Amino acid sequence: ALPQESMVDLFEASARRAPERDAIRYFDEAISFARLDDLSSRFAAALAERDVRKGDRIAVFTQNDPQFLVAQYGAWKRGAIVVPLNPMFKHRELDYHLNDSGARVLVCLESLYHEVAREVLPGTGVEHVFTTSELDFLPEGADHPPLAGARKLATEGTGDLLGVLEATAPDDGAREPVSPEDIAYLVYTSGTTGPPKGAVETHSNVAYNAEVYRTWMRMGEEDSVFGVAPLFHITGLVGHIALAGLAGIPLVLFHRFDPGEALRLIEKWRPTMTVGSITVFIALMNAPGAAGRDLSSLKKCYSGGAPIAPSITEQFEEKFGVYIHNIYGLTESNSPTHAVPYGSRAPVDEKSGALSVGVPVPGCAAQLVSLEDPSQEVPPGEQGEFAAKGPMIFREYWNKPEETERAFHDGYFLTGDVAVMDEEGWFYIVDRKKDMINAGGYKVWPREVEDVLYTHPAVKEAAVVGAPDPYRGETVVAFVALKEDQRVSEEELISYCKERMAAYKYPRRIEFLEEVPKTATGKFLRRELRSRAQSNPQRTT
Ligand code: ATP
Repeated sequence: ALPQESMVDLFEASARRAPERDAIRYFDEAISFARLDDLSSRFAAALAERDVRKGDRIAVFTQNDPQFLVAQYGAWKRGAIVVPLNPMFKHRELDYHLNDSGARVLVCLESLYHEVAREVLPGTGVEHVFTTSELDFLPEGADHPPLAGARKLATEGTGDLLGVLEATAPDDGAREPVSPEDIAYLVYTSGTTGPPKGAVETHSNVAYNAEVYRTWMRMGEEDSVFGVAPLFHITGLVGHIALAGLAGIPLVLFHRFDPGEALRLIEKWRPTMTVGSITVFIALMNAPGAAGRDLSSLKKCYSGGAPIAPSITEQFEEKFGVYIHNIYGLTESNSPTHAVPYGSRAPVDEKSGALSVGVPVPGCAAQLVSLEDPSQEVPPGEQGEFAAKGPMIFREYWNKPEETERAFHDGYFLTGDVAVMDEEGWFYIVDRKKDMINAGGYKVWPREVEDVLYTHPAVKEAAVVGAPDPYRGETVVAFVALKEDQRVSEEELISYCKERMAAYKYPRRIEFLEEVPKTATGKFLRRELRSRAQSNPQRTT
């Protein structure tokens, strides 16, 4: 059934049911549902005082801090639209997102204000800035690795968020009625295929998939969520904030992902559910002192946003006794369209070697269509582009009607991912259409080569891209980071791959890096790797 209430109503219902329960656990401190509800009502009143109206855009530029939730629920109570921003943005990117969304208000970490926002703001329509420190919800002298060096800065006459909240009383008159069809977020795509686009997500879209998470993972009152995904990304928005808000359960946050701090907080708070990128789980496994740590509380452990090599799930289970379930989704689908049901194990596709992303979640109509002609469906066992329809699919791209038009065919959203379905209905993502390498006319899917690299005991991270090649058009290049105190030569690793895959697939060149460069969401920066492979073309055969 479609959600009958907005995310504001669902959050407030949770706060009424269990006001004293922790809504946020920030490092070692707790903030109750009642307090979060009160703070966000104060923020709504502060927005009303500044003549912010229903439908206005409020940009939030923080890390995984409690202020994000205060700003978000406050904005929603006023009927405003939240625009989450990546805290890694530099001037040009911040400028683009503030202007494209037409934001009138910015909630910003003091450090980011001084580094980036201060210089950008004069060229935007932002009228009100609330700055806040990462230390605002921590006792004095709190010392946590992800906060190393954090200090309170002078706010230079901009509104200090905590000060404003203290000085503003909640006001029922500031509240605007919000319906499920109102817009909750503009969530920007990362822009790998052109300028970033703001996906318009309604309260109904978000609430629907938060409910999918809740029921699909059988979440109850004893559960709690461990926030490893960045809050500005759809995984954090739906799989952390909306899920915890709707279910009325605690969300553990710790500013910015740090594997050592993550291990400590898992042992302290014993969260039961998490969802994040596979690189997060790889980092946990390889953190100093990871052996023997107790992750047993994390029964509902999910990885999404990027392919998982089957050997990684095995290594993780061996080390921590925790099984990583695969989950698949996009910004435009408000997180999952597919997931491995809690308690099931994903099969591996014999042909492509891909670990299954599971089966469609309730309400998702999934089609596989021909790569050449989206009006042709392909039968089970054959590769096609995955197209999705359902209550979780976004409404449109903000102010981009042609892009919206191009993204849909016959009411189905075209994901750009190539997939296969087996006879039993399990889905496998082969790879992204645009990441395919054309090596002398043969299709090579980076994911498949990466999966093999990950089976080598010395390999910690592996990313494969195509590089221009005079003979084959494109050739296969791998970037590899090795585990600490493990060694293997380029030659050895190439022959290891050569023994395990068809001749056109194995990497012709391997470059070793300390760490493979990643986005803030933990995905490999393939664009950067491609240009690196291109500018470094020696020894390509
Ligand atoms: P952009 O859409 O701008 O190219 P993005 O990677 O940031 O960039 P997201 O919406 O964050 O976009 O990611 C969605 C993509 O992540 C999917 O299209 C798919 O390629 C990939 N993905 C998500 N989950 C999985 C999974 N479980 N297995 C394989 N790939 C996945």
